[in-house]
Amino acid sequence: MEPKNVSLEMRDYIAEMGAETINWCMQCGLCTNLCPWRLVPGETSDGFNIRHMQRLGQMGMEGFEEETILFACSTCSMCQSNCPRGVKIVDNVRGMRASIVGGGMAPAHLRPILGSAHANGNPWAGPREKRTVWQEGLDIPQFGPETEYFLFVCCHSCYDPRSTKIARSIAALLRHAGVSFGVIGAEESCCGESMRKMGDEELFLKLAESNIELYNGKGVQKIITTSPHCLWTFKNEYPELGGEWEVIHYTALLSQLQEEGKLPLAKSLAKKTAFHDPCYLGRHSEIYDAPRQLLSSALQADPVELGRARELSLCCAGGGGRIWAEVPMGERFGELRIKDALNVGAEVLATSCPYCLNMLTDACKSLDQQDSLEILELSEILAGALEEGQ
Ligand code: SF4
Ligand code: SF4
Repeated sequence: MEPKNVSLEMRDYIAEMGAETINWCMQCGLCTNLCPWRLVPGETSDGFNIRHMQRLGQMGMEGFEEETILFACSTCSMCQSNCPRGVKIVDNVRGMRASIVGGGMAPAHLRPILGSAHANGNPWAGPREKRTVWQEGLDIPQFGPETEYFLFVCCHSCYDPRSTKIARSIAALLRHAGVSFGVIGAEESCCGESMRKMGDEELFLKLAESNIELYNGKGVQKIITTSPHCLWTFKNEYPELGGEWEVIHYTALLSQLQEEGKLPLAKSLAKKTAFHDPCYLGRHSEIYDAPRQLLSSALQADPVELGRARELSLCCAGGGGRIWAEVPMGERFGELRIKDALNVGAEVLATSCPYCLNMLTDACKSLDQQDSLEILELSEILAGALEEGQ
């Protein structure tokens, strides 16, 4: 076997690109053991070892840049939340990716996604003027000086026909609860969360700066996000760029409104329902109770808990740019999640993230379980409870 060259210059470059804690790692291997890639078979699983990848990064050694490995992490934070040294593993992955993508070597399957975000302000190849299509027939108010909240709808729910139902449901719920909210529309750009996780720092900055200028120019003070990914990046990455607002995920706001008696719901859903904690709502943002409280109020019976719930939730595999990855059937984390739901006898698997909705729906289809299990976004269930309850 050829000896590998150590390059401390490369190590320092990776650290500068975001992998600031790469040297904190003591190579205990806990991260590798907790990673969902250990739970599925296949070539990627055989090759992906986050401890080893970080070791290569620590030494600036060639090998970490291997595309099928470096871009396989879904940034779920299962490893990071449990690392005994507090290593920011997700940032380390991002820094290693940025050192490759920044040099113009983005993986081929991600180039059209990044290209669309550059050209259209969204990764879904949607024209800017179509960003508002989800609003058809709803008479959604525009954000203005008198509006309390700016409602930022995730690009996925602007352009993916199934996902638009999330935006429509959330708008209906906010309206029923008497919330003062408005949208900006075609001038908005993607929050950039996934673009940064894919390693495109330059694109992330472009998107973030354009949003910050737009929102600050409109006088935005408070933002409701439909996706936990947008929540996370607005809250954690925008402030240092000049975007300092009060940011809340729709589940957190609706549960507050419910406690204040402003969102009465009918217990309309009779099916046995389990809740899947999205990584960016749960482990990344520590919001676990709000969606459960809301879900309970729309169900005739108590929700059932999955075997792996809350902090131990199993990733759907849609984060970190993985929503755009082709993964063979039988190797998808989402398929395990569908089995988790079937194992507890669930008839509905609810979640509160557009990426999870997408990935779990695909996994349910690949297992041919559509007749046994329905995948729904929490907002759809709640909006259904409103329609029957009011
Ligand atoms: S769990 Fe933390 S310290 Fe242990 S190998 Fe992983 S990153 Fe390194
Ligand atoms: S963030 Fe999730 S997918 Fe990525 S290495 Fe850690 S446990 Fe594995």
